[in-house]
Amino acid sequence: MERGENMGIKVFNTMTRQKEDFVTVEPGVVKMYVCGPTVYNFFHIGNARTFIVFDTIRRYLEYRGYDVKFVQNFTDIDDKMIKRANEEGVTVKDVAEKYIGEYYKDADGLNLKRATVNPRATEFMNEIISFVKDLVDKGYAYEVDGDVYFDTTKFKEYGKLSHQSIEDLEAGARIDVDERKRNPMDFALWKAKKPGEPAWQSPWGEGRPGWHIECSTMACSLLGETIDIHGGGADLVFPHHENEIAQSEARNGHPFAKYWMHAAYLNVNNQKMSKSLNNFFTTREILEKYDVEVVRMFMLSGHYRNPINFSLDLLDQAKAGLDRIYNSIGNLEHVIEVSNIEVLKEDEKEFNKKLDEYKNRFIEVMDDDFNTADGISVIFDLVRDINTNINESSSREIAKKALELIRELGSPLGILQKSTRSSLEEEIEKLIEERQRARKEKNFALADKIRDDLKARGIILEDTPQGVRWKRA
Ligand code: AMP
Ligand code: ZN
Repeated sequence: MERGENMGIKVFNTMTRQKEDFVTVEPGVVKMYVCGPTVYNFFHIGNARTFIVFDTIRRYLEYRGYDVKFVQNFTDIDDKMIKRANEEGVTVKDVAEKYIGEYYKDADGLNLKRATVNPRATEFMNEIISFVKDLVDKGYAYEVDGDVYFDTTKFKEYGKLSHQSIEDLEAGARIDVDERKRNPMDFALWKAKKPGEPAWQSPWGEGRPGWHIECSTMACSLLGETIDIHGGGADLVFPHHENEIAQSEARNGHPFAKYWMHAAYLNVNNQKMSKSLNNFFTTREILEKYDVEVVRMFMLSGHYRNPINFSLDLLDQAKAGLDRIYNSIGNLEHVIEVSNIEVLKEDEKEFNKKLDEYKNRFIEVMDDDFNTADGISVIFDLVRDINTNINESSSREIAKKALELIRELGSPLGILQKSTRSSLEEEIEKLIEERQRARKEKNFALADKIRDDLKARGIILEDTPQGVRWKRA
């Protein structure tokens, strides 16, 4: 079998509502486009879920030997960007620069692998304009007063992704229909300039692109006319991805993406996250309190197609689970340090084989539509077995192999890559920072509690003129 060619991976396709065999356009290569953020704000933990899900899918495909070309865009021109620029009294470009910088800080904090390309809509203006022009020339789009609309009745398969008929959609959309549009579902490809808005020169006068067209254009320019995976959060199925399909397939004449993948929503305390409900968390806030591996462990503990509920209690549970695995890693590191037996002992051969079985089980569940929930269960089973089978009298070889396997299975999930020493040190540093914050806020009860908790764990804090130092008791 060719490298990366139908190796048993199955992917749930939103288009067919079925799990399908994963076969790429080009053997061994995955062309993947994921809709990225509008860069007008810090991104929130709902966005973080979607980004972590697709980062994990990409990492797993790489683990299985594929060369993954991963494109995720920045929407750097739209109504929200313009509003934020006006509020802050700066240009739209300033807003984009600022929040793209902030995006990378949080994305790196979440251990998201950098994309192959992060294109920005404003860098693809010529390509976008020529895409729209092709649609006008082919009779799929029409101009009204400097706006250009896609004529949804011309694309016979409109509604195929979200499984809705155009008649039903039109019936639902009749109220508030813009009279200049020919049909209720038609959507803007190009918007004529309004006073005070940034604009680009086009055959239809000055204006700016609609949101959907940027993804169609950038996916096509960077990855080609048919890509393998197109992904995003579940809210994007309609209208964003439906419209992307209409534009791309009308222009190019063949399927846009082989597999449409959508991550379900993250809710907070069982409610939709929103600023008005006061249950809104930025990624940054959470990363200040929790280690990235705890956040990823939590996000991946459910299947990506099921909604996930977020609460600090659930994060604490994820932390407890992760600590159990790190305890085992710590034990293995210790055995590797102290063992006087180099190579596999006779009575370890069976357990050695069992380790391979755990790896196969992990691959089996992850191949089945990236079931990270079951993947994590396999790691817990593995760790339990390691704890009963490996101790100070084990060989260095079996301890090393077990440790390598834990790290190997953790790597597509973006977890379990630290040594126990560094993770403990990091945790202490974080607690010290929290204590400093508490003192600044005159919350001495909390500051003392943190110091006492650390003391109970054998860590002594010393306040020196140079800052807080810590040592082992
Ligand atoms: P936006 O910046 O709102 O366009 O969102 C960027 C990405 O995050 C898109 O793929 C959205 O579908 C996704 N997203 C937004 N809110 C949530 C949420 N609460 N849970 C999961 N994904 C989300
Ligand atoms: Zn998009």
